[in-house]
Amino acid sequence: MIPLVKPMLGPEEKEAVQSVLDSGMLVQGPKVAELEEAFKRASGTVHAIAVNSGTAALHAALYAAGIGTGDEVVTVPFTFAATANAVLMSGATLAFADIEPGSFCIDPSEFERRITKRTKAVLPVDLYGHPFAKAINRIAEDHGITVIEDACQSIGATRDGTAAGKLGDIGAFSLYATKNIIAGEGGVIVTDDASYAERARIFRHHGQGETTRYLYQDLGYNYRMTDVLAAIAVAQMKRLGELTGARQRNAATLSRLLKGIPGLTLPTVARGMTSAFHQYTVRVPAAKRDRLREGLTKAGIGSAIYYPIPLHQHPHFARLGYRPGDFPESERAAAEVISLPVGPHLSEDEVQQVAQALRTVMGGIA
Ligand SMILES: *Cc1c(COP(=O)(O)O)cnc(C)c1O
Repeated sequence: MIPLVKPMLGPEEKEAVQSVLDSGMLVQGPKVAELEEAFKRASGTVHAIAVNSGTAALHAALYAAGIGTGDEVVTVPFTFAATANAVLMSGATLAFADIEPGSFCIDPSEFERRITKRTKAVLPVDLYGHPFAKAINRIAEDHGITVIEDACQSIGATRDGTAAGKLGDIGAFSLYATKNIIAGEGGVIVTDDASYAERARIFRHHGQGETTRYLYQDLGYNYRMTDVLAAIAVAQMKRLGELTGARQRNAATLSRLLKGIPGLTLPTVARGMTSAFHQYTVRVPAAKRDRLREGLTKAGIGSAIYYPIPLHQHPHFARLGYRPGDFPESERAAAEVISLPVGPHLSEDEVQQVAQALRTVMGGIA
């Protein structure tokens, strides 16, 4: 079986964890500080704040930007639930906007259409590792709206040479076990804004300033990261270029080998951008997708659907008043997408096997 994902853990990670255990400094110690340095370097931001999940990073980013009750935040329904839940956790009102069919990211004109007097932030998602469109920044700037980037899938991607995470005013990464850079659980917030950074630090630590312990300035959470997990991510970050490069090479090979298959739409990368290829996601006609998945499974190729149901069609979000048909591009994507193995765990031969299996199965269900 060629799995869709496999954690890339080696002797560096094991040694790093062992040395934290030997040190006895388990939480918020030198490894967390090292991880923050690594994220500052990788994203080119002035500040980085590590927390214990990507969801916590999004929640803290919204808090840092001053988003709360009475504010509206625009985001997409074609994403993982944490994106939208972070908005609800902040107390703000959630406003969905549809995606572009090509990049699977927020459509700038749909964003513009959802702006009201109360819109304070937009939360674009770099889905599958592809950066969101620059037009979002221009529209947000015109309306005085803060851009909070959900970069949970896009570490290593770039737009016009700028790293994902730095494409808005504040960015949120995840270090969850299946992401491109992992700790198991974890997250990081990056920003150039000193006051956002200070607020995020207070928020992760029960509302205490880091230099003013036991002086509670505001509501906070326990969003601290452990040094044990930070040590794993620090070791991973040393290989960021290598791991991202392997994904991009595998994606390029897949796209070369899969060209011209009737009914198959390959992923594209917009001009001026590079994708981190968290997923290599193709589209097939909805009526064929189940048979394609079955065929791939039989051929020993892992695959997955991200995401089978857009958020607005789940009971939790439908309760906010959304109806099927509200976001046609998200609904169509949910019916057509399928993600194939692309990670750095694949050998060249396995990449060929994935492509060959897809070609054969597609041929059989034409
Ligand atoms: C993984 C992910 C998150 C949440 O990260 P966790 O670390 O699992 O909390 C949020 N948004 C997107 C787009 C993700 O892929």
